[in-house]
Amino acid sequence: MKINRETYFQIKQSLKAGQVLVAVSKLQSVEAIRELYNLGHRDFGENYVQEHTQKYEQLPKDIRWHFIGHLQSNKVKYIAPFVHLIHGVDSFSLLKEINKQAAKNNRTINCLLQIHIAKEETKFGLDSDELEAIISSGSTDLENIQICGLMGMASFSDNMDLVRSEFKYLKELFDSTAFHIPHSTFHILSMGMSGDYTIALEEGSNMLRIGSLLFGARQYNKA
Ligand SMILES: *Cc1c(COP(=O)(O)O)cnc(C)c1O
Repeated sequence: MKINRETYFQIKQSLKAGQVLVAVSKLQSVEAIRELYNLGHRDFGENYVQEHTQKYEQLPKDIRWHFIGHLQSNKVKYIAPFVHLIHGVDSFSLLKEINKQAAKNNRTINCLLQIHIAKEETKFGLDSDELEAIISSGSTDLENIQICGLMGMASFSDNMDLVRSEFKYLKELFDSTAFHIPHSTFHILSMGMSGDYTIALEEGSNMLRIGSLLFGARQYNKA
């Protein structure tokens, strides 16, 4: 299996300082990840806990692993020793569990709160009231987590005006939340995937999560 090198370099070139590309490697082979790693890439994103821990064990330890899937509280312990950033935190109880497992591992785990921005009912995430509740409900007392920003997934749609308006909304929420939190800790806005990342960049994203454009289609049957 070959990764799309040209696309990779093209995307890297379009990024400004401070903008991060997370290569989403779920359901992709260890070899494919190694190929991108050998080009100097270090940020990889995974969705499934078991697959994630297996890949962590097989690959170089200087990879920054992003967990971007829906995380169940009872599985936090498996990724807590090594995860770099958890993108999809969508409840205070999950945040507390991450804090507990981070403490057990003697470390601080960086988290993004996932906001529901898509029209679709199926996507996970908080609304703006729930976000505010978490921010103001003593999340700063949790000493082993750091809330670093927000993450969102736009509607899976050809309607790019809709997608753009959803990203705009997330950026506004990000800015108004950042206003209340010291800027040094709250600075990541994770939005944009293969189909919509150029719009996401235009709307202020500084962290892209791109899979199929880099690796080709995922092989769901192999999982
Ligand atoms: C799979 C996934 C991606 C990457 O999707 P592509 O369309 O392959 O770029 C990004 N973000 C999340 C949350 C995902 O689950």
